[in-house]
Amino acid sequence: MPLRRCVGCGSSKEKKELVRFVARDGRLTPDLTKRGSLHGRGVYLCPEPECVRSALKKHRKRAIFSAALREDVTVPGFEELWHIIERAKTIQGKR
Ligand SMILES: [Zn+2]
Repeated sequence: MPLRRCVGCGSSKEKKELVRFVARDGRLTPDLTKRGSLHGRGVYLCPEPECVRSALKKHRKRAIFSAALREDVTVPGFEELWHIIERAKTIQGKR
């Protein structure tokens, strides 16, 4: 099973347990395909509010999303990002 690292908590998990994001038109965009197959570099987050908060905090300090995706991306605030993840969980049947 391919393991991926959550940019929030830093733990490695199976890809299917995480939500994948890619850069699209300069924005952090969720990969809502079943297998996480949208083209391009991906960045991963656990579908947990603590991970989202922690990742956003790191992004404000060190632009971690832009670093991981190798391009400057606009990252939504907590409310919007969490809403996106909730939606992704519903679509992909994650927890
Ligand atoms: Zn995490």
